Amino acid sequence: MTDCIFCKILKGDIPSTNVFRDEQVTAFRDINPAAPTHILIVPNRHIDGVDTLANEDEPLIGHLVNVAGQIAVQEGIAEDGYRLIINTGANADQTILHIHVHLLGGARMKYPMG
Ligand code: 5GP
Ligand code: ZN
Repeated sequence: MTDCIFCKILKGDIPSTNVFRDEQVTAFRDINPAAPTHILIVPNRHIDGVDTLANEDEPLIGHLVNVAGQIAVQEGIAEDGYRLIINTGANADQTILHIHVHLLGGARMKYPMG
């Protein structure tokens, strides 16, 4: 999608601090971190969000979560614990319509978040 910020990041048109990339997904640091470690893991192919997933996207989303867990280990936050979030729609404050997993860690987090 031409007007999608994450597609522009994936193309290299907007700079990002990448921590992982393979043929399916890319992970980069959130520009406005909500925790000491805050990384976004996104599919390389544009998908709006959870609501527009197709059945054939299931392996891709599984890979997205698996990569998030590997990055948590790589970042040294796995032992103390971390949170994965997929915001979906207005009530959850999804601001970028390119599906992404937030990986948050490095500090104790509150739940529920309000
Ligand atoms: P959402 O609210 O859609 O779940 O999350 C979007 C996330 O993308 C936010 O945490 C926001 O800080 C992050 N973000 C927005 N624009 C950019 C950008 O240009 N670069 C990076 N690295 N993160 C961004
Ligand atoms: Zn996109």
